[in-house]
Amino acid sequence: MDFSICQDCLGDETRLTRAHNGAECKICTLPFTVYQFKANSKITRTLICHNCSKQRNICQCCMLDLQWHIPIELRDRILSSVQGSQVATPEAQNEMMKRFIALKNGDKYKVGGAAVTSDAAANADAIEKIRKAVDHAQESAGRPKSTKTSRLDSVSDRDLDISHLIKKLPLKGSLEPATSFFIYNLDPSIPEWAIVDVISELVGTTFWQDPNSTSIAINHMARCGGLRFKSMELAEKFRLALQSFQTPAPKMTKGKLQVQNSKLHVVAWPQFHRAALGTDNAECLKLAQYLDKHVQKDLSSSEVSKSIPKAPKVSKSSKTSVSKKAKKSRRIVDIEL
Ligand SMILES: [Zn+2]
Ligand SMILES: [Zn+2]
Repeated sequence: MDFSICQDCLGDETRLTRAHNGAECKICTLPFTVYQFKANSKITRTLICHNCSKQRNICQCCMLDLQWHIPIELRDRILSSVQGSQVATPEAQNEMMKRFIALKNGDKYKVGGAAVTSDAAANADAIEKIRKAVDHAQESAGRPKSTKTSRLDSVSDRDLDISHLIKKLPLKGSLEPATSFFIYNLDPSIPEWAIVDVISELVGTTFWQDPNSTSIAINHMARCGGLRFKSMELAEKFRLALQSFQTPAPKMTKGKLQVQNSKLHVVAWPQFHRAALGTDNAECLKLAQYLDKHVQKDLSSSEVSKSIPKAPKVSKSSKTSVSKKAKKSRRIVDIEL
């Protein structure tokens, strides 16, 4: 087998078609053998070459870590945090560097956290460290030990002040015209390239980014990010192509950007400021929790405003004859609230 495709992408499919030198690898830009297959009733194809996938230990289709199934940026951050040393997967910025790295054999040469997740023993060791870190955080928060490793969020359950970040984020903002935007409600399994692709499709060009400044900053751990368009015209195209929804009290219009199976929330962010997305891991996790609550508030209130039936009017004289319908709608309201 000369491809690495995760089970989520491949499903039960066993029939793959192969096109020799069928496309350019999204990472090293060299032509590579593309595999194409139908899974979950849609056509999926490999986006990066097998060597790049092995160097980073990622799936050739979704580009998530093959072992942990999360974006490599998040994988490396988690590893940095538990190992106490910086783990990062730097991507080559120029053609020569790209070629140079592409020549290295991915079976032996691993970048960033790939060295850990591609090695069974190192991976088990890292998982154990994560479990301990989570247990430690839960103990200090007065909670019983967990047996699962998935509650990484609890790491942030400490007294950490993130008001300096919140201040800089446009959480009270709406989807008004601007050249930069704040996005949140980001599923951490969505890679940055998928967001870039969706935006390029919406605005009809891949050249919406300004090569001289940061155009997209995604912080998977904080589950949010920022976008900046190189012109107001492109930004307006983007803004108008979004679905929008209203939050009552205060009434605000916010945008929804559909990427894969999730909907990112979008508001204008004229003061786009990368550092406001959080820098160290604890800060990012705390911000993610804060934003989650914010999203729940947005959604629950907008749902209530749409679906809340008028409270059934029951006159005092007919107290005993509350209709079944009224009872039923009252019950629904209770559940929704
Ligand atoms: Zn490649
Ligand atoms: Zn995959």
